[in-house]
Amino acid sequence: MKLSRPQEECGVFGVYNHPEASNLTYLGLYALQHRGQESCGIVSSDGATLHAHKRMGLVADVFGNQEIFKKLPGRSAIGHVRYSTAGASVEKNVQPIMVDYSRGSIAVAHNGNLVNAQLLKAELEAYGSIFQTTMDTEIIIHLLATYKTNSLVDRIVEALKRIKGAYCLLFLTESRMIAVRDPNGFRPLCLGKLGNGWVVASESCALDLIEAQFVREIEPGEMIVCNADGSIESLFPFKKIEPTPCIFEFVYFARPDSYIFGKNVYLTRKELGRQLAREYQVDADVVIAVPDSGVPAAMGYAEEAGIPFELGLIRNHYVGRTFIEPAQAIRHFGVKIKLNPVREILEGKRVVVIDDSIVRGTTSRKIVKMVRQAGAKEVHMRISSPPTSFPCYYGIDTPNRKELISSSHSIEEIRRYITADSLGYLSEEGLLKSVGSTKTSFCKACFAGDYPVAFPKPADLPQMGLFEEEQKKHD
Ligand code: AMP
Repeated sequence: MKLSRPQEECGVFGVYNHPEASNLTYLGLYALQHRGQESCGIVSSDGATLHAHKRMGLVADVFGNQEIFKKLPGRSAIGHVRYSTAGASVEKNVQPIMVDYSRGSIAVAHNGNLVNAQLLKAELEAYGSIFQTTMDTEIIIHLLATYKTNSLVDRIVEALKRIKGAYCLLFLTESRMIAVRDPNGFRPLCLGKLGNGWVVASESCALDLIEAQFVREIEPGEMIVCNADGSIESLFPFKKIEPTPCIFEFVYFARPDSYIFGKNVYLTRKELGRQLAREYQVDADVVIAVPDSGVPAAMGYAEEAGIPFELGLIRNHYVGRTFIEPAQAIRHFGVKIKLNPVREILEGKRVVVIDDSIVRGTTSRKIVKMVRQAGAKEVHMRISSPPTSFPCYYGIDTPNRKELISSSHSIEEIRRYITADSLGYLSEEGLLKSVGSTKTSFCKACFAGDYPVAFPKPADLPQMGLFEEEQKKHD
């Protein structure tokens, strides 16, 4: 069953005060393409007017023509890559959203998901707001337009005090860029410097590409205001709470060359693999990864277990992620399109296959079959995270609970379904130890079901439909 509203996996990128702002933003989005492949867009400011170009499609396709950049002039720009499962009318949901209102123009790009969106939307509609999109992000614009204070920063702060959930936001007006990370710090966001300008990106890999200097991560609850005189202000306008960054960014979502939540993703994933080997050793001849997501963990596993690591599955890099295919039939087919086994590596061998996660179980089942067909004697599946049993409501696209295989099946049942000789998941303690959680309490709702930002109660909700749907997913 598809969700009735968009679930978003996204990336944001912004440049302030640089003559090549929109070109750099294009490159930044290119580096963040893994965070969303459905649509993308850039809004630039020439100091007096905002200009936009946004479409469905990959960054290289949407911005594949140099002429486009002539229509995106100015020294500041924000951009967005997005993936959502929303059906028909997705074109209107492409970000950044740009509006003209009584105080000028504003554009916003959002990575994350709000949990009280329906409640706020109903309230705003009752006061006469007319929504053009089905995105949570538009609510923020409507909210800030309702506040009367002259200060843009104050209006944004007031608007954000009303929203709950996960958000990394980039605002662009004619003269300013403002970046905000939610108080829980669910999603990563970092600050860079390029010449006299400032850069903000979901992940540091995007700074590397444009050779911006990594300054630091933007803190949970922090707002960075880039001013026309080249200065930046750091504000902490929200009540301080214990941050809960998303542990799944380390497991799967972020790029391995990024530095997020105080750590390099690649080394962290390798450590997940090492810990997995400590927890689930097996006598085997070769360790292989499900590329690309399983590679660092497989290398860590192999090192720790003292078993050779080989590239036993080769990925066709010109195929999009199987997960982005919306139809179930295509998803089943997708694994074959994407991966091919190397028979010479697998034939007659006892093989350990490492992947970062099992969602529906479809990928693992196909892969075990594929590895066996290539002649493997035994296939041992190892997963570098605990069972994914609960949906994410904070910006990672996961199916509803019913479709998550581990929500209703034991590990032994999953092993039988994927037809592996053995199956081992990294323990929750092992995961936390590997990401060094003594300093940080991570959001691990997808594994443990404990959601750090609560949903509105049924009584608060004027529209019961969504709540009931979300409740059903928990059940
Ligand atoms: P499944 O076939 O549904 O079990 O999907 C498992 C595969 O999806 C694994 O190889 C993961 O690397 C990948 N994966 C896990 N979470 C996500 C996500 N949120 N978006 C895209 N792919 C994912």
